Amino acid sequence: LKVLGIETSCDDTGVAIVSCDRNILADALHNQAQIHLANGGILPPVAGYHHRANMEKVANEALSAAKLSMTDIDAVAATVKPGLSLSLEVGTKYGVFLSKRYQKPFIPIHHMEAHALTARLIDERVKFPFLVLLISGGHCLLALVQGVDSFLLLGKGLDNSPGEVLDKVHRRLKLRNIPELQNFSGGHAIEVMAEKATDRFEFPLQIRANSMVSCDFSFSGLLTNCFNIIATEEQKYGTSADGVIPSAPNLCAALQYAMTSHLCRRVEKAMIFVKGKQMIPSNNPSLVVSGGVAANKFIAKALNAVCDAHDYHLSVPPPHLCNDNGVMIAWNGVERLRENLGVLHWNNLDSVTISTKCPLGKDIRKD
Ligand code: ATP
Ligand code: FE
Repeated sequence: LKVLGIETSCDDTGVAIVSCDRNILADALHNQAQIHLANGGILPPVAGYHHRANMEKVANEALSAAKLSMTDIDAVAATVKPGLSLSLEVGTKYGVFLSKRYQKPFIPIHHMEAHALTARLIDERVKFPFLVLLISGGHCLLALVQGVDSFLLLGKGLDNSPGEVLDKVHRRLKLRNIPELQNFSGGHAIEVMAEKATDRFEFPLQIRANSMVSCDFSFSGLLTNCFNIIATEEQKYGTSADGVIPSAPNLCAALQYAMTSHLCRRVEKAMIFVKGKQMIPSNNPSLVVSGGVAANKFIAKALNAVCDAHDYHLSVPPPHLCNDNGVMIAWNGVERLRENLGVLHWNNLDSVTISTKCPLGKDIRKD
């Protein structure tokens, strides 16, 4: 079985073809990052415009890279939620169009489910049930994955997502003015800067009160602390010619450290919770970490230590599969096709709708 997957939830136009024996037959991606970096953030109509301009081209690129035509494809999968509506609608409409035109089943995909399941494509050790930590530009969540479409939500972000904090601090620090960091995403630039630190600012995380008793996450206090320190440092010491404060590496290190320790504490809490409730096997279960921020090596190393201490196997997909891509959508399509979960007949696609927001899984904290 081969599934063609389409991803357009945010600013990446991705089309990939993946087979059920876990081969990535094609992985075509058009990234708009540079356009949005220049605009200081993603403007939804601009993202939509570039998706429309590239959609067909990227799909044809994937088919020709795999040396396949649409007739060889068994199903079409596309991200329908959550994301930016002007972006989601492009991939969804194109997927529905391909499905009707070539009379192939259509599989609507939840973007975060796809991030979570990617690990199973590249790591055979990841079996249900497993824990997943999704850290990205729009999300922060911790869940127990019991099956392809069976998620128990253990914790979620109450305010800013980790990627959003990294991107906002990156912009405020003007790190884009440093030539060697010019093409880096916010999180990546902060990771590189942190490596140059000689010291670290000390600041409290200031998490929201209701996140103290659960596995929920809170990063807004961290963002405020960073902004306050930057303003003080600018006043005290000024900036160099590129507009960057001299202590930027130390601030990046402090931010990365505080973020990492919050993530690690919540993961540990979740591990203790699922063990106590016997929701996970005791013989070396997996922790999957995915989403764009999972590309951060400092965070991955710290989570690896947590896994060692609790006898977990850590699985982090390679960076290009942690960021948005078509492969994860095609693979999610394969997993759903195999179990016939939510697979729609090409003649019955009127019900396909996009949603900008959509929680993932059952929120067990409400029980
Ligand atoms: P979502 O998946 O929640 O819809 P998104 O699709 O915008 O959000 P991703 O593409 O999964 O998010 O991730 C993008 C985020 O990852 C950005 O905030 C970026 O700064 C961050 N990021 C990328 N590389 C790194 C890194 N090395 N360290 C930390 N953060 C990183
Ligand atoms: Fe994403």
